[in-house]
Amino acid sequence: MALSGGNKIGGTRLRAPLMVSLVLIVFAAIVAGGTGLILTALSNMAFRADLLDVQRAEQTASGALAAIEQQMGSAVSDYTSWDDAAKAVYVDHDRDWIEKNYGIFTGAGTLFDTYFLLTADGATTMSYKDGSPFSVRLSDYFGQSFEALEASLKSEMGQGTYQKTGFVETADGLAVVGIAAVRSSQGGLTVPRESAVYAVFARHLTAPVIRQLARNYVIDGLQLVSSVPPDKSFAAVRNNKGDVLGAFVWDLRAPGTRSFREVLPAVCWGIAVIGLVLLALLVFGIGIVRGLMADEKAARTLAKQDLLSGLFNRAGLHDALVEIEAEAAASDQSALLIYLDLDRFKEVNDAYGHAVGDQLIKGVTAGLRHLLPKEAAFARIGGDEFAIALVCKDPEERCAAIEQAIISFFREPLIIAGRVASVGASMGIAVSPRGVLGSAELLRRADMAMYRAKATRSGRAVFYTAAMDEDRQARMEMANDLRHAIDNDALKVLYQPVFDAHTRLLCGVEALVRWNRPGHGLVPPDIFIPIAEDNGLIGRLGEFVMRQALEDAAAWPRISVAINISPLQLHDISFVNSTAALIEACRFPAERVILELTEGFFIRNPDRAKQSMAQLQRRGFRIALDDFGSGFSSVGYLREFGFDRLKIDRSLISELGKTLKAGELLKATVALASSFDIPVTAEGIETEEQAEYVSACGCDELQGFFFSKPVSAAEISSVLQEAGWTFSAA
Ligand code: C2E
Ligand code: CA
Ligand code: CA
Repeated sequence: MALSGGNKIGGTRLRAPLMVSLVLIVFAAIVAGGTGLILTALSNMAFRADLLDVQRAEQTASGALAAIEQQMGSAVSDYTSWDDAAKAVYVDHDRDWIEKNYGIFTGAGTLFDTYFLLTADGATTMSYKDGSPFSVRLSDYFGQSFEALEASLKSEMGQGTYQKTGFVETADGLAVVGIAAVRSSQGGLTVPRESAVYAVFARHLTAPVIRQLARNYVIDGLQLVSSVPPDKSFAAVRNNKGDVLGAFVWDLRAPGTRSFREVLPAVCWGIAVIGLVLLALLVFGIGIVRGLMADEKAARTLAKQDLLSGLFNRAGLHDALVEIEAEAAASDQSALLIYLDLDRFKEVNDAYGHAVGDQLIKGVTAGLRHLLPKEAAFARIGGDEFAIALVCKDPEERCAAIEQAIISFFREPLIIAGRVASVGASMGIAVSPRGVLGSAELLRRADMAMYRAKATRSGRAVFYTAAMDEDRQARMEMANDLRHAIDNDALKVLYQPVFDAHTRLLCGVEALVRWNRPGHGLVPPDIFIPIAEDNGLIGRLGEFVMRQALEDAAAWPRISVAINISPLQLHDISFVNSTAALIEACRFPAERVILELTEGFFIRNPDRAKQSMAQLQRRGFRIALDDFGSGFSSVGYLREFGFDRLKIDRSLISELGKTLKAGELLKATVALASSFDIPVTAEGIETEEQAEYVSACGCDELQGFFFSKPVSAAEISSVLQEAGWTFSAA
């Protein structure tokens, strides 16, 4: 358990951070999905592009084969459908011409590299290769495809077809071959078909030829292979029967894959950047979430924290107590609660101001925090009220130690802002064995014990006892009975005569309330007045006494009537007006009324007191400072507030003759009062000596059992009558 300040987070109210996380996750998923889609699309595109390229290459390669065959066709046509050739072959038999025009072209031209001239019966009359004659048997040189080609030409000669081209295997490899009958430039045979001479041209698909093709048709790595490859795209080289003689293969350009590879780094970079941005967003988001959580935690801590001291506030204490009780129950120990109320804090606050009061609270907080056990929960639950709670095995010992520490702490005066403030502490203690009481009851008991400590002013901590509850019960019953008495006008008012010190004649009375409580007898006002104050009955009680006193006193000429006023009555803002209204209703002269006030009211609320006093005095009432000499008895009040009379408390009178100091004090007080022109009444005179002494000191009015106890109104009337209504002027 922490010393102070709420600091627990429940796991429930984190909706905002959760939302932020969810949004981020969804965002991340969208980006990841988008990235995946883009990559898939790109790779699909690459695949499509590759496929298209393959198709294009196949078409181009096939086109190249067709073109080379077509070229051969044109060349064959040029060289055989030629009048000069027909003349040289059929008419002149000019071997020389033929060699020059056909043979040597096999060396120079690019159209063909091999040449055969055949007679009608198939015999070779001339053959050239690469520009030189060469002798080979035609049937040895060409493969079967040639025979098919030749046969197809010869079979179609009747329909006017004089030349054929096709791919043929030769002893030197694969070649595009053209075979044609030598004929006129117009295309017709100049000799009978049986005597026709044939020219055969061949162009081999050599490496240079293939390279040239590759260049012209833009096919990388074009190669001729002997058989169709199983796993590559190819263009088959077929003879005119459709048999596959070989195939062109090439390097796949794979432009899609290549482009894909080229753009991939950029795409990767893009994705990386997006990823980084996302990461940054995530970090940022987490920061926000953390901030929100911290804010929430701070807000929750703040809600349980007292701002001035930084300790738990009442709500924080409540939570801490619940935990402490639970811990005590679980560990078979006791929960201990010490309620601490500063004494004289109000005086410091009133005298030095709130800023000093605040500093005093801080100073006390710091001091106590230092001496309290670290595991104790420490709270400030009101202006000057603190609470200390802890779990322990031995509550009596722990309490004694803490009490001792606190008492010695307060024994030293505190220096606050250069001023010395001497405050004390009243402590009430309650123990909850094994946490059985529950926090509310524990608080109630410690609070009650603290009030008892405050009332007894013993300066020691008071443990809660069941008797306190009984006492409280008794007070509650008394309050009920008192309320009943007020409701039924069952209270009585007696009057204690006041005498002139010189003439010893009756000059006034003090109204004193009496209550004969049924079943209990007379209850002293010292007992029931505080109960009336605590239970909100003092206003009605005071009003009853005043009305009664004014009614009774109406029959008595000129003597003054003193009425005790509780500070709480003056707190009621309507008091001045209602008192004025009452006195008007009774048609009683306000000048004959003395309102007796104790200094407590002036200490607590000097400004309000001054204001109320002035208002009452303006309406003719006189104000006496009652019970002087019993409490703080600051002569400063005499000067500051302009009282009309001072009443010396009987506790001081009873000391006369016993201690020297009492006489000195009395003399000094009366002297001071007369210096301010304030007359002094001495009350509680029980002996002739006291009467003489206080008269000699300068008290002008005397009151006490020596002269008379409080008596009924009727007795006052008969005394006055006996005296022939002689009295001293007030
Ligand atoms: P107090 O204002 O000091 O009233 C004088 C008290 O001293 C009275 O006690 C009176 O009976 C007592 N007394 C007078 N002469 C002597 C004496 O020679 N020896 C002794 N031992 N006592 C003497 P009481 O009537 O019991 O009143 C006690 C206190 O209760 C009063 O003290 C006053 O503070 C309060 N009180 C009484 N009546 C009222 C009232 O109507 N309203 C308010 N607010 N307070 C009242
Ligand atoms: Ca009095
Ligand atoms: Ca008194």
